[in-house]
Amino acid sequence: MAGSILSLLLVVILPAVHPLPRRVPIAVLFYPEDQPLQHLALRYALQYIYADPELLPGTELYEVELNMSQADSFSTGKRVCGAVSEGVAAVFGPRAPATMGIVQSICETLEVPNLQIYPEVPEDRGKCLINLHPEQESVAQAIADVVRFLRWSSFTVLYETDEGLIRLQEVLKRHGPGDPQIAVRQFLPGTDQRQLLKEVNASSEFRILLDCSVERVLPLLRQAREVRMMSDYHSYFITSLDTHTLDLSEFQASHTNITLLRLVDPENITVQRVVRFWTEKEQYYNRSLGVTAQTVRTETALMHDAVFLFARALHRLYFEPNGSFQVQSLGCDVGNKWAHGFRLASYMKINEVDGMTGKIRFDTFGRRSHFELGVVEYFAGKFQKVGSWELGRGVARTQSASIDAMDRLQNKTFLVSSRIGEPFLMHNKEPGEHKDNDRYVGYSMDLMKEIAKVEPNFQFEFRLVPNNKHGELVDDLIARRTDLAICDLTITHEREQVIDFTMPFMNLGISILFSKPVKEETPLFAFLKPFSIDVWIYVATAYLGVSILLFVLARTTPGEWDNPHPCKPDPEELENKFNLMNCLWFSIGSLMGQGCDILPKAVSTRMVAGMWWFFTLIMCASYTANLAAFLTLNRLEGSISSAEDLAKQHKVKYGTMAGGSTASFFKNSNDSTYKRMYTTMSQSRPSVFVNSNEEGVERVQKGKGLYAFFMESTSIEYQVERKCDLQQVGGLLDSKGYGIGMPVNSPYRTMVSGAVLKLQEKGVLQELKSRWWKVQQGGVSCSEEDAKAPTEDSNKLGLANVGGVFVVLIAGTCAAFLMAVLELLWNCRKIAVQEKISPCEALLSELKFAMNCSNANKPVRRKLEQEDDDDDENAMPVGVSAGSFVRLGFGKLTQAE
Ligand code: GLU
Repeated sequence: MAGSILSLLLVVILPAVHPLPRRVPIAVLFYPEDQPLQHLALRYALQYIYADPELLPGTELYEVELNMSQADSFSTGKRVCGAVSEGVAAVFGPRAPATMGIVQSICETLEVPNLQIYPEVPEDRGKCLINLHPEQESVAQAIADVVRFLRWSSFTVLYETDEGLIRLQEVLKRHGPGDPQIAVRQFLPGTDQRQLLKEVNASSEFRILLDCSVERVLPLLRQAREVRMMSDYHSYFITSLDTHTLDLSEFQASHTNITLLRLVDPENITVQRVVRFWTEKEQYYNRSLGVTAQTVRTETALMHDAVFLFARALHRLYFEPNGSFQVQSLGCDVGNKWAHGFRLASYMKINEVDGMTGKIRFDTFGRRSHFELGVVEYFAGKFQKVGSWELGRGVARTQSASIDAMDRLQNKTFLVSSRIGEPFLMHNKEPGEHKDNDRYVGYSMDLMKEIAKVEPNFQFEFRLVPNNKHGELVDDLIARRTDLAICDLTITHEREQVIDFTMPFMNLGISILFSKPVKEETPLFAFLKPFSIDVWIYVATAYLGVSILLFVLARTTPGEWDNPHPCKPDPEELENKFNLMNCLWFSIGSLMGQGCDILPKAVSTRMVAGMWWFFTLIMCASYTANLAAFLTLNRLEGSISSAEDLAKQHKVKYGTMAGGSTASFFKNSNDSTYKRMYTTMSQSRPSVFVNSNEEGVERVQKGKGLYAFFMESTSIEYQVERKCDLQQVGGLLDSKGYGIGMPVNSPYRTMVSGAVLKLQEKGVLQELKSRWWKVQQGGVSCSEEDAKAPTEDSNKLGLANVGGVFVVLIAGTCAAFLMAVLELLWNCRKIAVQEKISPCEALLSELKFAMNCSNANKPVRRKLEQEDDDDDENAMPVGVSAGSFVRLGFGKLTQAE
């Protein structure tokens, strides 16, 4: 109420004090490219002001439209001069940089305020120029700050015009000339930019800083989509302040990250009020406006703000004490100045107004010293403000700015690339037809299913790489053909440069897969092993040699010839006990450590005996010492127990999987041993590298101790559990982990990593590992087999070790028995001849006597008749056979006469 009374007073009283002309003309320069909305905005701004009873009561602003057909400074100058000669309170425009200079110069000379709403203005600003458009330098600053806010370290700048480079100057300055992380490319002539985009795509760049007019944004994004540059891994930052007015819904499905800056905030209350006013006006004329608060372009809003700013300055002048205002006719040729122009310009500079482009404040040079740019992301079909930029403050993140991976997951099916390799992924062998993910089973598949349980919107589809190589998985991620890669993919520094990894889901290290030493069968005659065959031959030769020597010496030395009948002091014959048989018996008795019932007496024979005893002492001791070792020979461990052992020798070949992280470990290692091992491996012919772990395992099995395979401990664990002829040798050479790979800067990294962490905390990862590593029921588990196997006491010798000795004993006793039979038969034959009976009768009587154990004494058979020429010089009693003749000593030798 009080307000309307005051307005009434102002309308009625004040014009009498400070009369304003009823109509105040303003000149506005238009070019053909100015949109109809621009004209409309101007006209509605004028009406908006007229409708405000407090702003310029009783005064109407009206436009003098100077429609220019081309940006020609001469004709523009002429038109402006024509307008000022009629009298105008301000000149708005022009848009074309080529004509700005002449207009500004005329306005400066005549002191007519010149309001600009376009970014490019002349360097020399003067006193009357006021530009509502943010300065190029400030926008450049904002762009650079947003790039930092987005944490872009590498990107490609695509710009349309040279003027665009001025906007990008801060970004380029911050990164320095020749920064390898940044590529700067200008648009190709014409509208087709696909070639340029293809080249950018080929460089694997996925962050694009795009500077072009708003009209070119949509065609360019469409072309980018054609060349597959609109995926969820691509990010665009578009510098045009009007991009938010475009309909980007056609790119919604691609999940591309599009960031932009805007000066006009559709949420701004002034914007909404002004647009509502326009709409009502259009409705009044039965027309539709075709613009909403969301689609008001910067220049349109600035046009409104420029008129509003001018009206506020006029308002101030209006209420100035002792002020007066008149529009004056000015002549470009005369050069007379307008009395109120400078003051009006000054009021515009010091006035602070809230317009459609936010708070409007100027510095003394007529530049906007305060404005706010909204940092906006296009997501899920709408623009969301994620931050705001202010001059001198940089970008501040907005509270609600949380477009996370969860939101992006809606309707997305992740392409997961993988490879076949036990137990991570295998073909499903269960009967029946399998489709999609059901075609595969394994640890990787189960892990993905578990992640999908943690993140309910997570859908995935497995896809195999053509050549089953780890490198292909990495290539797919680099080219962003897939979203995730899962298998035994080791996290390495080299891979981290080109792809991202989640938290490791399994820890491991490199170790050696080798065959278990084959348990050798103990040979039957293992007791012969302590001496080589040569030594046995030498011992046998020495035995014979010594026996013969003893025999010869005994015959030659008089000391060995004894009286056979010591009671007869004067014997006719002497006897020598060391006949050949006795010498052999003596030597063998000594060799076996048993001694003998005859011993040498002469010095020479005693010396031979002494030396022989010394020899047998040493030989027996050496034999005994070596015997235990040889009998347990089969229990000796393999000679390879570490990588160093492998490096030291040449017999056992060793290799790795080609192109894998294990080969890279040896290749890039700083350790001299590993480096040397890599050189050895790469020089080996035939090659020791294999194409897959499976091939490596097969080669170790076939190699039977002649090939060792460097493999990751998890895979070794899996193999040795199933293949009982294999074992892990030595510890781990390094420590690392398997991770799920994804393209660099994937928006899903945090989400997938978080899911892996949760699974680890819940013990699901451990459960999955046991499920796939432990042998399923019904299979053969080597660790269980080993546990079941009876443990052998390594100190005890089994029958296998000493069996040979029994064999010798049995063979010896059999030979003795055979000998006894032969002796018996021979004796029977003799008896049969002597007693003239049949050999069978002789044998029978001999056997009868032998079997009758009560007969302790055997009667001597005496020779009844001496008619037989007995070739035996010993008179043999009848009935006494040679065999049953009891001899004392070892035969009687007659000394030669
Ligand atoms: N896990 C390895 C990789 O990611 C492959 C196997 C290996 O090199 O031992 O490359």
